[in-house]
Amino acid sequence: MVQKQEDSRSKTALVTGGSRGIGAAIAVRLAADGCDIWLNYRHRKDCAEAVAEKIRALGRDCRLLEFDVADAEQVTRVLGPLLEERGPDILINNAGLSRDAIFGLMSDKEWTDVIDTSLRGFFNVTRPVVQGMIHRRQGRIITISSTSGLSGMPGQVNYSAAKAGLIGATKALALEVARRRVLVNAVAPGFIETEMISHLPLDQILPRIPLGRLGRPEEVAALVGFLCSEEAGYITGQVFSINGGIYS
Ligand code: NDP
Repeated sequence: MVQKQEDSRSKTALVTGGSRGIGAAIAVRLAADGCDIWLNYRHRKDCAEAVAEKIRALGRDCRLLEFDVADAEQVTRVLGPLLEERGPDILINNAGLSRDAIFGLMSDKEWTDVIDTSLRGFFNVTRPVVQGMIHRRQGRIITISSTSGLSGMPGQVNYSAAKAGLIGATKALALEVARRRVLVNAVAPGFIETEMISHLPLDQILPRIPLGRLGRPEEVAALVGFLCSEEAGYITGQVFSINGGIYS
């Protein structure tokens, strides 16, 4: 349960890529735990609106924020005015995409799209948000990395590099802002049942997973919910795997 602030105002959580999959589950979970939500999406407004309805049905406020996290101008235009009032207490850097290809045949665009969404996205959104957290001397930042960023994955040199980069960024930022009581952690999911992996051959994947099944977005959301709770107040700079045992 995310507790209320000392001034009894509800906490606000910004979830990037919240229109579908893991981000949507995290947004609903944090709303159930008592947060108002700023829900970012890039294109799929219909999906984002459906998630917002669920959040409002839980009695929480939900603002829809349309921007591409990789585009600094869009982020500043949409997020800037809100941050001038008061920034979020919690930031979930979840927006991400994959563009799998054998490395020797990978196009510039496949490389750049994936790196920019993860790393420029982290920079564009986290830098302005963390300033307010530092000022208020409280905040939680959770970034969704991947097993690929820990183990490496063939066909995903771009994605593995991006997700490993997020782990480095998480650890460094955690050290920078710990004294200001801003806690920064990463979550590294394995195969989670969302659109992102819907094109992959399940018959080849499932035998590799010790628990013998895909993970559910709600299971990732439960871990994120814990990391945003008061009970997780002594955890920072860490990476938490949630992968059915596929890699440790
Ligand atoms: P989905 O493809 O189901 O959803 C991706 C979400 O990210 C959508 O809300 C999409 O918005 C949004 N998004 C993508 N690019 C951008 C962008 N440039 N700016 C803003 N929003 C963007 O993915 P998952 O839910 O599976 O993945 C969520 C995160 O979890 C990603 O970071 C992914 O790398 C990571 N992950 C996923 C795993 C899995 O097995 N599913 C495993 C490990 C990590 P829109 O709907 O508008 O397109």
